[in-house]
Amino acid sequence: MLYVPLLCMNKKIVVSGIRSTGDLHLGNYFGAIQNYLTMQEDYQCYFFIADYHSLTTHPDASLLRPNVYKVLAEYLACGLDPNKVVLFAQSDMVQIPELYLLLNTLSYVGELEKVPTFKEKVRSNPDNVNAALLTYPVLMAADILIHRADFVPVGKDQEQHLEMARNFAGRFNNRYGCNLFPEPQVFRSRQDTIKIMSLDGEGKMSKSENINATIYLNDTDEVIRKKIMKAKTDQGPTEPNTPMPDYIQNLFTLLKASGSEAYSHFLDHYNGCTIRYGDMKKQLTEDLIRFINPIRTQADEIRNNAPLMQKVLREGAEKAMPSANQTIKEARRAMGINYYS
Ligand code: AMP
Repeated sequence: MLYVPLLCMNKKIVVSGIRSTGDLHLGNYFGAIQNYLTMQEDYQCYFFIADYHSLTTHPDASLLRPNVYKVLAEYLACGLDPNKVVLFAQSDMVQIPELYLLLNTLSYVGELEKVPTFKEKVRSNPDNVNAALLTYPVLMAADILIHRADFVPVGKDQEQHLEMARNFAGRFNNRYGCNLFPEPQVFRSRQDTIKIMSLDGEGKMSKSENINATIYLNDTDEVIRKKIMKAKTDQGPTEPNTPMPDYIQNLFTLLKASGSEAYSHFLDHYNGCTIRYGDMKKQLTEDLIRFINPIRTQADEIRNNAPLMQKVLREGAEKAMPSANQTIKEARRAMGINYYS
């Protein structure tokens, strides 16, 4: 018998999906995970590993499990606490595909075809325009509505999908004359504004692009050192208090975010035109190693502990089940799928 602590009923509900694709990097940490760590204290959080969503690209079946374990291990190593958040795999919740089916009846092909991320996928991958790609926003709505979320922490790129989830919620309530689904709102936080750029100054740090200029949470100390040393800089300012170019600002952002005590020291030198980027990079390297090394070491340990991973996923699914069952029960009843009572 698994020990399943009671969920806190009077906290607002937050739902967020974590894709099990690619390695987590500093952008993910400072742009999202740090935020999750605050949320887990104040909200009832349902965080799931979005393995169903990863199937649209037809990944090799043997990769699914290591990918899920990897992302789960990294989140746990970063400090997500399964005793505070409900952490589960999307595919463990059979209620999600059922709600997806019900919501599909209320979504229209025309509106789905207009979604920019769908159009982009059609352009970039014309040989694999499968129906799940088209209905991605419906599955996302099911993920969110199954726990009747109040808030969803989404980036700008996902705001339209959340708007669609709100529409589906409203349509369901209107169509079936009920008040089952609240309309989930965007969760806004201080960290939303933190964008970590790639170290070559070209775009954002990313799971799959700019990999030599992105620092991953599983980079070794040596790799971190090499990447920081190659980071783009310039001759330095010649006038006091010159505005910083993006790529320099990014190094300062990283220095501050990693908790470096030397941030003000280097800022004063920048403003006074006496900055030596070589020294700043050495300091940043040390601070990032101090920050990443324990996360990497712990994630490795956790990932190799399959029984632990399985326990977390199993208990997470058990904890998520009551809320998902209740939603499906009420949705079925509202729709008239109710033949035995
Ligand atoms: P993704 O890696 O695209 O699945 O994004 C997961 C989360 O990390 C989302 O909340 C993104 O907004 C955030 N994120 C991804 N890359 C960055 C970045 N370079 N800077 C800040 N936040 C990021």
